[in-house]
Amino acid sequence: MLKKNCRRPWLPEHKPHEGRIHTNTEFYQSTAWRKLRSVKLQQQPLCEECLQQGATTPAQMVDHIRPINKGGAALDLKNLQSLCHACHNRKSGRERHPRKP
Ligand SMILES: [Zn+2]
Repeated sequence: MLKKNCRRPWLPEHKPHEGRIHTNTEFYQSTAWRKLRSVKLQQQPLCEECLQQGATTPAQMVDHIRPINKGGAALDLKNLQSLCHACHNRKSGRERHPRKP
């Protein structure tokens, strides 16, 4: 008598995709962030740091004024600023080396 094997071990185990956000990378890939980011860029398409110095540079990214890992609100427009690459690099450099200009 032939026994039928009902197990299908070649099928991958089901893993849920939805879940808590554990890392910054996951956050920056989230729909909520991408939506808010585009809202911010529509409201302020120019780099805010450059604007303060009288220059109009198109913003290329949206930055958290107070970093999320320092308790800043992740999804609050008031905690966001539009930046160009140069200003963003300068800012992240400042955050890593606060004593250097
Ligand atoms: Zn700039």
